[in-house]
Amino acid sequence: MHGVEHVMPVTRRPPVVMVEGEGSWLRDGDGRAYLDFVQGWAVNCLGHSPAVIREALAAQAARLINCSPAFYNAPMARLATLVAEASGLDHVFFCNSGAEANEGAIKLARKWGQLRRGGAFEIVTTHGAFHGRTLATMAASGKPAFEPLFEPKATGFVKVPLNDLDAVAAAITERTVGVMLEPIQGEAGVVPATDEFLRGLRDLTRERGVLLILDEIQTGIGRTGRLFGFEHAGVRPDILTLGKGLGGGVPLAALVASGEVSCFEPGDQGGTFNGSPLITAVGCAVFEAVRRPPFLAAVRESGDYLAARLRALSSDLGHGEVRGRGLLLALALTHGDADVVVQAAFARGLLINAPRPDTLRFMPALTVSRDEIDQMLKLLEGCLR
Ligand SMILES: *Cc1c(COP(=O)(O)O)cnc(C)c1O
Repeated sequence: MHGVEHVMPVTRRPPVVMVEGEGSWLRDGDGRAYLDFVQGWAVNCLGHSPAVIREALAAQAARLINCSPAFYNAPMARLATLVAEASGLDHVFFCNSGAEANEGAIKLARKWGQLRRGGAFEIVTTHGAFHGRTLATMAASGKPAFEPLFEPKATGFVKVPLNDLDAVAAAITERTVGVMLEPIQGEAGVVPATDEFLRGLRDLTRERGVLLILDEIQTGIGRTGRLFGFEHAGVRPDILTLGKGLGGGVPLAALVASGEVSCFEPGDQGGTFNGSPLITAVGCAVFEAVRRPPFLAAVRESGDYLAARLRALSSDLGHGEVRGRGLLLALALTHGDADVVVQAAFARGLLINAPRPDTLRFMPALTVSRDEIDQMLKLLEGCLR
């Protein structure tokens, strides 16, 4: 593995080099195959190197790769239209990562607070939240491991427990500009905001004149069995952020806002690579694939099947609850160390993830087959026994 010593060691990586992927399978340089139930952290919604993305990349690369964000381009306009129409919101700003989309959401909310709410700037966020790794999105996150890092923190974030509407009501003051949360906290271990909480928040934020900001970077683009997680609760946010599955594996994220809230003026927001035709062309191809029936119905079916099988396995082995929706699922372990299970799974050629020492997370390709789910469960059972 010549050269890896020059890769900045920001995470612990196993001593293998990944060289190719197809669908639910990833292969390393020694030809070992891995059944992938992580998929780049819920990114590769159509699996590894799907034809849809290869073809969109090849066709757009032959036409126009980059013209700078100073100009409109056709895929940018098409994807903005698809996202706006599907979300019921009006304006879309494309960027390169989830953190950048959330950073933009925070800036947009503060700008709106300056213009419309007497300089209000505080954002109420939740304990356990994960919003990204820039200075502001780390401060917005409620991840305990972030607390001692990179002082001084960006200010202006007030934290409340998830699913506690009274706590949110008490935290909103004249300084508050909005409430920001994930419909399901992914990195915290797949912890859902309840539908009643989301509906209560929608009413509360409207009554108090502040914004509802939903981070759907992990839950969006079909992951929960609906195009957007907020559809389950029947609410619509004022600001929405997307990432991960939106590009299906290429770096693409989006900040989406209602017309009333979309108040950036020229110079407030931008970025060199944002909305490039090459990347937004992939976004269009992914978006159209996910929206084409019966894609989402199949995600719901696969998710129900995986959840039921995980529940059965858990009750056989004396483990805990299965949480989540669609193909964003977690199994709570009542004994043993989830990291040890992840290592054992890796040794057997299965990729799963442990967001917490007592939780295993499953986020396969949305196109995962029943046979692949069965294979995963067999390998998992071997590791848990
Ligand atoms: C992954 C994630 C982010 C950060 O996205 P990046 O592309 O890694 O910057 C933000 N919010 C949620 C909910 C995520 O899952």
